[in-house]
Amino acid sequence: MNSETITHDVIVVGAGLAGTWAALTAAQRGVKNIGVLSKIHPLRSHSGAAQGGIAAALNNVRPVPDTGSRGPLEQIPAGAALVDGWELHMFDTIKGSDWLGDQDAIEIMVKAAPGIIYDYEHMGCVFSRTPDGRIAQRRFGGHSAPRANYAADWTGHVLLHTIHEQALRHGVQFYSEWYVMELLIEDNICHGVVAMNILDGSLHTLRAKAVMFGTGGYGRAFKITSNAFANTGDGVAIAYEAGVPLMDMEFVQFHPTGIYRHGILMSEACRGEGGYLVNSEGERFMEKYAPDKMELAPRDLVSRSEQMEINEGRGVGSDKQGIFLDLRHLGKDKILSVLPQVREIAIDFTGKDPIEEPIPIQPTAHYSMGGIPTTANGQVIADSAGTPVYGFFAAGECACVSVHGANRLGSNSLLEASVFGQRAGKAMAEYIQDGAKLHPINGDPTKRSRQRIQTIFENEGPESVETIGETLKQTMTLNCGVFRDGTRLQQAYDDILALKPRIKTAGVMDKNGRFNTDLLAALETQHLVAFSEVIVAGALARTESRGAHSRTDYKERDDENWLKHTMAHKNGADAPRLSYKDVTIDMDRFPPQKRQY
Ligand SMILES: Cc1cc2nc3c(=O)[nH]c(=O)nc-3n(C[C@H](O)[C@H](O)[C@H](O)COP(=O)(O)OP(=O)(O)OC[C@H]3O[C@@H](n4cnc5c(N)ncnc54)[C@H](O)[C@@H]3O)c2cc1C
Repeated sequence: MNSETITHDVIVVGAGLAGTWAALTAAQRGVKNIGVLSKIHPLRSHSGAAQGGIAAALNNVRPVPDTGSRGPLEQIPAGAALVDGWELHMFDTIKGSDWLGDQDAIEIMVKAAPGIIYDYEHMGCVFSRTPDGRIAQRRFGGHSAPRANYAADWTGHVLLHTIHEQALRHGVQFYSEWYVMELLIEDNICHGVVAMNILDGSLHTLRAKAVMFGTGGYGRAFKITSNAFANTGDGVAIAYEAGVPLMDMEFVQFHPTGIYRHGILMSEACRGEGGYLVNSEGERFMEKYAPDKMELAPRDLVSRSEQMEINEGRGVGSDKQGIFLDLRHLGKDKILSVLPQVREIAIDFTGKDPIEEPIPIQPTAHYSMGGIPTTANGQVIADSAGTPVYGFFAAGECACVSVHGANRLGSNSLLEASVFGQRAGKAMAEYIQDGAKLHPINGDPTKRSRQRIQTIFENEGPESVETIGETLKQTMTLNCGVFRDGTRLQQAYDDILALKPRIKTAGVMDKNGRFNTDLLAALETQHLVAFSEVIVAGALARTESRGAHSRTDYKERDDENWLKHTMAHKNGADAPRLSYKDVTIDMDRFPPQKRQY
């Protein structure tokens, strides 16, 4: 197949909210020639699957006075006191992060939040509304005010469609079903990427003055996950292979309500709207673990509480590995108006209608707090001193700014992808307008990727890529899950080391060029194995419990030794080399505290 060299000023990899915001913003700021590559149809990006809401302190609703912290909400009457503000949003996010989030970046995000919601509104986004026409808001875990702005339970879908249309209107060129395989970095300067046109299998060099990754999360390294099939962490693995370090990869969020045995998400909006979690004895067990916030405690805490109930024999389902999510008391009208998609998914995947029956759920791998380290402008950094990788930017779930630290609050991720996608777009436009150049490319940059594909085609097995992927997912879920300890983490690490040579010899059945999903699965599984090693190495080294990283052999948070970010550097074929980076903390305003709910 012929290989073409394609040139753009800006290349964005990923058409979710982060990538599309970056492309749109760069276009709005005068960059003419922008290409966005997506391995799936852009509107199928995982951002479109987000259900519950996007956080911003808009002060549109408040709890009805004197009805308790879980009572009904009402729109704030004109002239009444406000209940929310960016400072409170900032504090909640810092506390949610278990003090590992960088406070300067968090401040930028929460201050920008109302503005970005109004940007969406002015572009025509169909939010749900209060009776007087303001944007509707609901409660979300770990937020002390109702600040998740939503469109029923289709929030991500409406945000993504809105912004995608605007990007098209501004002349952004989309390459749908193009798979990026390699990042071209020489002497700390990014020159472009190598990508495969999935349709015909042809490989191309794409040159650009600036490249941005908005490649999303990597929940697919786990057996039970809420993530789409496409969320295989290609971006983080490709950046790591190109010599970029990865930050805080050990922090993987387990969402408390994935459908039992499937992992498919029952949005946090279920609990935001008042849903209960109940064990096999009919108890609302969150009373024991978070008496104040109950089901609306942050996700790390709720998932651990569920797991403890399960471990102590109070689970539901044939193997007692589930918990019930009970929405029946919300009533048919409310479920149909604000949780219609959740209901459909529950019926399709459990055969149970939440209007009539509780839904069995379990913790599910959901969100990647770690990723490619960046500044608050999306500039990727090469080390803990902050040395830039020139011309390389990242934002959204694949990046680590870090606003979520050790645990993300629900509804802060659509916000992060939007705010930092927009900021990366602005930074790329400035970088180009300041005179960034196209760098010469030597030799044939597609050679390495061509060889990689050739090797996969020539491999005769004996194992299939699928078996290797399954083994990895099993060990990650079992040994690097909600609760961890040194023995289990070591087991996961040994399993991954054993998989590394095996994935090199695994073969595929289909050896054709056209739309070869077997080949894609092989490439993706190589990526899963590569970054899973980094997750487990970081988790083994971090001998404390913080946020989503919960070790039964080191139960306490250890600020003296571990109030720092992990940076994992590729070290040839050996284990990653770990270094550490300070957390940005404003000791006067938000010094570390004990985290209680
Ligand atoms: C089921 C579910 C519900 C959620 N609900 C909420 C919610 O209510 N509120 C909230 O704040 N957050 C929510 N989240 C999290 C949030 O949706 C994501 O973190 C966020 O949308 C990520 O956006 P992104 O732009 O970084 O990546 P994505 O939207 O995941 O997009 C990634 C893009 O990268 C492309 N890509 C990846 N690898 C390659 C490659 N090798 N070559 C070419 N293209 C590539 C993909 O094609 C895709 O276009 C939810 C997540 C899930 C899974």
